[in-house]
Amino acid sequence: MYTFTTYLVFFAIIYVSFIPKIEAATKDFTYHRPSDWYLDHAACGEQLANERQSPINLDYFQSEFSSLSPLHFNYIASNKAFNVTYKGDGSGVEIVNPGEFMVSGANLASDYILQQFHMHTPSEHHKSNEETVMELHLVHSNSNISDGWVSHPKGIVVFGIMFKEGAENIFMKDFLAKIENLNISATNETSGNSTKYHLAFPHMSGLFPDDASTTFYTYPGSLTTPPCYESVTWFVADTYQTISTEQLSAIERLHASSNNNRPIQPPNNRMIRRSFDDNRTASPTSSPTSTGNNAPSVSSAFSVTANSVSVCFLLITYWMFE
Ligand SMILES: [Zn+2]
Repeated sequence: MYTFTTYLVFFAIIYVSFIPKIEAATKDFTYHRPSDWYLDHAACGEQLANERQSPINLDYFQSEFSSLSPLHFNYIASNKAFNVTYKGDGSGVEIVNPGEFMVSGANLASDYILQQFHMHTPSEHHKSNEETVMELHLVHSNSNISDGWVSHPKGIVVFGIMFKEGAENIFMKDFLAKIENLNISATNETSGNSTKYHLAFPHMSGLFPDDASTTFYTYPGSLTTPPCYESVTWFVADTYQTISTEQLSAIERLHASSNNNRPIQPPNNRMIRRSFDDNRTASPTSSPTSTGNNAPSVSSAFSVTANSVSVCFLLITYWMFE
């Protein structure tokens, strides 16, 4: 009996210890437990005071006006077609032969090259503690860094555009028409389609709000997916774009999971700057900035419960054999 007890306790310890790691190993990360990403990717945050993780809440009254020169996108109203690689799992659109589309200005030390763009539903950043239905991220790499820009502290500029439901968006209309012609959206959710498709993308017009170059928030942050490198200088347009309900549904069908937004992270005394000062007055109902999502998520709590149930089952088995 001593031998059986030893094996049982040993098995229980091994079983409980390895559950999270087995789950993580089968898939690099999921949106079920973003608070656990740090288990496999330390940079995703261990709630240390000096972390600069993203996304965060952006608030006019808790940001500082800074007289920044306008951003200059050489593609903001481009009617030029360009080639992209689209991943069948909906995770992003990569620019083939990057180098033509660039962003500079706003006191950036160098030009940044558009590498890819992708969408999150709902939005990742919040504005005055509110999310919107979608956020599009344009990811640019530092043109002065050929290798290692993904993890370099000044390696990446991401420009985020938050969308609300409303009028149809012309950029999204032509984007979705291209994707739907591939006839892959119906199957990718279950198959985890990792096929890459080459597309001649029609144009970039209609994507940016009219005042995107001059009216934005900016702050030092991170990638919002593992490995969560703290390499991103973030810009988020203050003005929302709109997307129709039908377009939003189509985009949600492209993603491998219905929600792909990371929760708000602690600001940790970072300088959040805004390029505009329009003398707005505080709403009497405005609430303080969220301090982040430090509490374990519901799914994390469930997982702990599930592990406890497993231990309970083993103990019951032990007593039966005793
Ligand atoms: Zn993103």
